Amino acid sequence: MIRERENGIAYGGIILTASHNPGGPDEDFGIKYNTGNGGPAPESVTDAIFNATKKVTQIKFCPNIPTIDLTKIGITTIKKSTSSSNGVCDTFTVEVIDAVEDYAKLLSTLFDFNKIRTLLNRSDFSMCYDGLSGVAGIYATRILQDILGAPASALHNCTPLPDFGGHHPDPNLTYAHDLVEIMGLTREGTINQQKINDHVPDFGAAQDGDADRNMILGKRFFVTPSDSVAIIAANQAAIPFFANNGGLKGVARSMPTSCALDRVAESLNLRLFEVPTGWKFFGNLMDSASLGGPDYNPFLCGEESFGTGSNHVREKDGLWAVLAWLSILAYHNQNSNTPLVSIENIVRRHWEKFGRNYYCRYDYEGVQTADADSCINALRTRITNFQNQKQTNSNYTETLSGGFTLATVDEFRYVDPVDNSVSDKQGLRFIMSDGSRIVYRLSGTGSVGATIRVYIEKYEADPTKQDKPTAEALKELVHIAVNELGQIEKFTGRKEPTVIT
Ligand code: MG
Repeated sequence: MIRERENGIAYGGIILTASHNPGGPDEDFGIKYNTGNGGPAPESVTDAIFNATKKVTQIKFCPNIPTIDLTKIGITTIKKSTSSSNGVCDTFTVEVIDAVEDYAKLLSTLFDFNKIRTLLNRSDFSMCYDGLSGVAGIYATRILQDILGAPASALHNCTPLPDFGGHHPDPNLTYAHDLVEIMGLTREGTINQQKINDHVPDFGAAQDGDADRNMILGKRFFVTPSDSVAIIAANQAAIPFFANNGGLKGVARSMPTSCALDRVAESLNLRLFEVPTGWKFFGNLMDSASLGGPDYNPFLCGEESFGTGSNHVREKDGLWAVLAWLSILAYHNQNSNTPLVSIENIVRRHWEKFGRNYYCRYDYEGVQTADADSCINALRTRITNFQNQKQTNSNYTETLSGGFTLATVDEFRYVDPVDNSVSDKQGLRFIMSDGSRIVYRLSGTGSVGATIRVYIEKYEADPTKQDKPTAEALKELVHIAVNELGQIEKFTGRKEPTVIT
């Protein structure tokens, strides 16, 4: 909406939003400011706003503003008023718009709606979309149901509720449990044997409370967010926004996101960026050309925390990802007389070609800040020692258990190629000689303690070994991450992580 109205009208936008916290005075509800490019305000702007608030000496109110009916689309002009002793209210206009209309129009320029419609019409195709009682439901109803023809029965929880119906609208295997069950999966992402005789839809998707994140599921099959962005890149021909604009020029992932995207970028000769966690880093790359740098658009990016997007906006976009996957399905199912090519087929073919990056994340929440610091500092020391050895012997490696060889270690530091800003201490990386990785990050050092996140990833090129449950495939690396390198129990007393995703 900001981008659509940027030419002289919208300088920026104040957004009342929260991913999964309900509204109300006692809730942790967010107010964000996005700038004219549509993306989150950079630190330079938020710092300036904060400094300005320190100089506020008076607050003026403008009384007697007539009530505007927010249910009616149209423009209301409020005339200049000097009737108040508190100050003068200049003439201004309030326009109530249909945000869904704007968004649907934008999406219709990015995707081939007819092809998606044809897919949704197939008698052998069914889908299930869960709005998790968040704001996405309004968009999904208009776009998936009214415009693209999905049956109403395919859309669940698409009426937004102030308290999300008591649910936690987080599109992952834990919180989107109703959808996960309908799709024949367990919360570990494995096949739910108790549902093995049930009818399961071919495609499942969910979004979070403010619609920016997404989860994609196939029939009894979970697509990891890291795989999702890689597979969208490999299937860019299915998406007119990419295909009709000369194909992808740049792709990017947040550092902890698996390296699946790197394999695609290498094979398709795409410029790849590995950036710190935070969408503004992607936004900068998308705006590179307008800031006098090289043009990386069309651009695709994603992060392991269920965020996917392209340069059509400057935020992650959940429904965009849903339509991207429907487009990919439609692309692989152009002949309606042949059996349906499933999400699982598409992902497995992708792994056969590019290899599979087994991936999981361990979160240790609410750790005492001092304990978390000790753990991270010990890892930092290990990195320094390793790098010192490497300086005297460039072939230096360390043998770990399970036949893994530690080849490269560092603390991730990012120099933004667009504005040259530097982001330090963005995660500790331990990279094995076979490309497997363990990454540690510390976040949320507030009053409730810190969260240690451990990202564990193993690359498997051999198609005969790509069918293991993730937990089994990563067993040895998890042992290395938790015990050998991290020594997490020793430092934090935690025997198990709070959440595994
Ligand atoms: Mg969100």
